[in-house]
Amino acid sequence: MDTKMLIGSAFEAGTETEEIILNPKTGSEILKLPEASLDQIDRAVGAAKKAFTGWSRTTPGQRSGYLLRIADAIERDAAAYAALEALNCGKPINAVINDEIPAIVDCYRFFAGAVRSMTGTVSGEYLPGHTSMIRRDPIGVVGSIAPWNYPLMMMAWKLAPAIAGGNTVVFKPSEQTPLSALKLVRAMADILPEGVVNLVLGRGDTVGNALINHRDVDMISITGDVATGKKVLQAAAKSVKRTHLELGGKAPVIVYDDVDLESVVTGLRAFGFYNAGQDCTAACRIYAGDKIYEKLVADLSSAVSTIKLNDPDDTLNEIGPLISRRQRDRVASFVERAAELPHISVTTGGKPASERGYFFQPTVIAGATQEDEIVRREVFGPVVSITRFKDPEDAITWANDSDYGLASSVWTKDVSKAMQTAARLRYGCTWINTHFMLVNEMPHGGLKQSGYGKDMSSYALEDYTAVRHVMINHGG
Ligand code: NAD
Repeated sequence: MDTKMLIGSAFEAGTETEEIILNPKTGSEILKLPEASLDQIDRAVGAAKKAFTGWSRTTPGQRSGYLLRIADAIERDAAAYAALEALNCGKPINAVINDEIPAIVDCYRFFAGAVRSMTGTVSGEYLPGHTSMIRRDPIGVVGSIAPWNYPLMMMAWKLAPAIAGGNTVVFKPSEQTPLSALKLVRAMADILPEGVVNLVLGRGDTVGNALINHRDVDMISITGDVATGKKVLQAAAKSVKRTHLELGGKAPVIVYDDVDLESVVTGLRAFGFYNAGQDCTAACRIYAGDKIYEKLVADLSSAVSTIKLNDPDDTLNEIGPLISRRQRDRVASFVERAAELPHISVTTGGKPASERGYFFQPTVIAGATQEDEIVRREVFGPVVSITRFKDPEDAITWANDSDYGLASSVWTKDVSKAMQTAARLRYGCTWINTHFMLVNEMPHGGLKQSGYGKDMSSYALEDYTAVRHVMINHGG
């Protein structure tokens, strides 16, 4: 197993506090990894800064070639990457192989193509005797910090547009899930010029904090909690760094009375519980029309009770455990507090699901109201709440009544109603009669406290490049 950080072209072990890396399925230790020292972080940033001079002058076509080789390397070794991700996150192996790895490979391939067709908007004579042109140029060294829910995918979302755009990167995976990133930087070191991608290990408040405050980091890109995003903004303010923030979510799902209930139930069983609900777009906050409410609660609860987890034959599992004991206890405490409310009923699940490891029963909470904590706060676990509405205006108002603004969905057979509702939702994405589906050609990112960076799509390439004006005096 690869355990060393990448600093320039050197593979080094950290020299500071050891972090225990756990298997969330069993709670047992996989290995210990020491975190980076301040000197190692400094050298990683130095290597990225040095590499920037050469890398930023490569052509889009050259960078595209490197990205395609990274994609090929992941695809060639897909089984090994999937096994590491399954081990470190507890994900069902089939979900990693069939869903995540192809999307990750496609992300590098998408940006390999996108960078070659990136355009400036105008060039022309706006002052007599002078020609102006717009350039899109790289920003510099990007400090890139990822969460634990999709380690390799978040790495792809961050690294692919950053290096495609001509930037160099110091990447910090989550201290809980570094294994797949450690393997990938080995492959990247063989493919990329020295220093273009560096990796440092460690916790947020030590290594992450040093990275976001480093004077030679020009941009910080982070996916994580809202509280972490706010710390990044404070650090960035000191030297006016660019920031790219992808923070949490609490996706509302409006289900009108006219739906095909069977397809709604099938959809929500999948989209509310994928990755054990540890997904910032999870369909977790359902608003159901008065006429279908009772049947939706009954049918969804019954469907959710059949979700397979913790089966000894992993190929049968649909979801895995939560990432840690702390996360499982946090989810359990949300459910306990909700269950104490007289108007709420837990219609399926509600408890930890295993002695060993961090499994939690897929849970449906019915009768929730807009003021309830379970409706307002991000649980980040396999728990969905259902709230009844009579007036569609209430559904839209409640859906928008959130600090988060990442993802949402509307379910109805009426196209006009779907479009009118979608237009009024203040979320980075609104799906109609589906949820959760992402494609590399389309942007993913939020409004409000969910942040403002765009991942995926040509918009990400814009985020990782700066607009510049160059003006030529004709001299005559
Ligand atoms: P987290 O904020 O605790 O950690 C995310 C990363 O930030 C980790 O690498 C961590 O080490 C680092 N970090 C923490 N404190 C830091 C600090 N002071 N300075 C610098 N770095 C620091 O979040 P998490 O628990 O790993 O991930 C779950 C959260 O991420 C959820 O809130 C979820 O909604 C959000 N998330 C958002 C998206 C999105 O696209 N919007 C995607 C995945 C996860």
